[in-house]
Amino acid sequence: MAIRRILIANRGEIALRIHRAAHEMGIETVAVHSTADADAMHVRLADHAVCIGPPPARDSYLNVAAIISAAEITQADAIHPGYGFLSENARFAEIVEAHGITWIGPKPEHIRTMGDKVTAKKTAGALGLPLVPGSDGAVSDPVEAAQLAEAIGYPVIIKAASGGGGRGMKVVNSADQLATQISQARSEAKSAFGDDTVYLEKYLGNPRHIEFQIFGDGKGNAIHLGERDCSLQRRHQKVLEEAPSPVITASERERMGSIVAKAMADMGYRGAGTIEFLWEKGEFFFIEMNTRLQVEHPVTEAITGVDLVREQIRIAEGLPLSVAQDEIEFKGHAIECRINAEDPWNFTPSPGLVTSYHAAGGMHVRVDSGLYAGYRIPPHYDSMIAKLIVYGRTREGCIMRLKRALAEMVIEGVNSSVPLHQALLDETDFQNGDYSIKWLEEWLSKKNEI
Ligand code: ADP
Repeated sequence: MAIRRILIANRGEIALRIHRAAHEMGIETVAVHSTADADAMHVRLADHAVCIGPPPARDSYLNVAAIISAAEITQADAIHPGYGFLSENARFAEIVEAHGITWIGPKPEHIRTMGDKVTAKKTAGALGLPLVPGSDGAVSDPVEAAQLAEAIGYPVIIKAASGGGGRGMKVVNSADQLATQISQARSEAKSAFGDDTVYLEKYLGNPRHIEFQIFGDGKGNAIHLGERDCSLQRRHQKVLEEAPSPVITASERERMGSIVAKAMADMGYRGAGTIEFLWEKGEFFFIEMNTRLQVEHPVTEAITGVDLVREQIRIAEGLPLSVAQDEIEFKGHAIECRINAEDPWNFTPSPGLVTSYHAAGGMHVRVDSGLYAGYRIPPHYDSMIAKLIVYGRTREGCIMRLKRALAEMVIEGVNSSVPLHQALLDETDFQNGDYSIKWLEEWLSKKNEI
């Protein structure tokens, strides 16, 4: 049924992104905010706004009772969770639905299945996706773990089943460290995620991170919207993303894309999702699935012309997918730079007053951001303050335009990662598309030595 008013259970650029899609569909929006975000742009633009608690996220953006009350008070008939916060919380999705509110997201059971990385891997394997060699489920017995690690070969990586955001992973180079690292990983996982389940995987030497965007209608139909290359990472966190990947050919895209789309169709998946792979020497290895919209979704929008948030809302309304697989064309190239309020070289967070702000513009330049001059970036949340997304007919043209756009960005009063992106774009390896998930950290450590 048609949605009239969406409560956006998030903040920052993604809250704005959802507001924009909603308004373009004639749907009203309700912003929720902590006391630290009373002056935020997402609150200013929404049709209604409700304060849901003090600055710490656990008391506001993660406060389920306050968010549900806000939806009831404002008579919102749907909730969009954005990314992060409650977006992959199956229990929250169930509570939303139990209140007769439309959940703009996947079926709660699929969020749960894919949220546990051990179950996710098993499910992906059963659906025919290629996996990183590793343990067949959780590991706890040190003798068994040692045998397994020997069989797959060192180095191995220990991962927390409930981990996320680049946390909860440990690389082990040799047998003598395995037992202590497993017990340390388990106790760290217990305190960070409330779950001490860990598993083992082969640690790939020099892979790329390549992920496929998928959409399902929840009724057995699914499509893919191609891949994104997110190999430029620091501490397992993405810094710059591009689509298409410089190393994936059209026939590989079609082959892998149809495998993932079929897997999602078989599952009866509903809404937006991302299947993440490591790619090495032409081979794909599934690592995890994210059952939500991703930060880097705009690069896919740029090369396919499909508005992913609009698609999410339509599916939540029970409508069919608005495009068929054979109608999706991949055109040109897009790159996204994540701009954080931090020192560009030592990454120290830099919250505070933005004294002046000017966003880049011009043809094929998109800036998703809640910044304005006079805005005070609160210290309580993620440091990402803007995303600069640039499109070009070719990758070379896209890079030239991105350099031009970065030079136009003015963010004063706080440090930002704009200079980092500018330096990156000048690197021959980047220009040649020749980089793996290790490249950025190696480049940074070389720079710091000089
Ligand atoms: P998270 O949920 O924390 O994002 P992922 O499983 O998606 O965790 O892994 C994040 C990143 O960690 C990957 O993009 C990759 O850079 C690195 N990584 C994960 N698994 C492996 C592996 N088996 N070998 C090498 N690197 C890995």
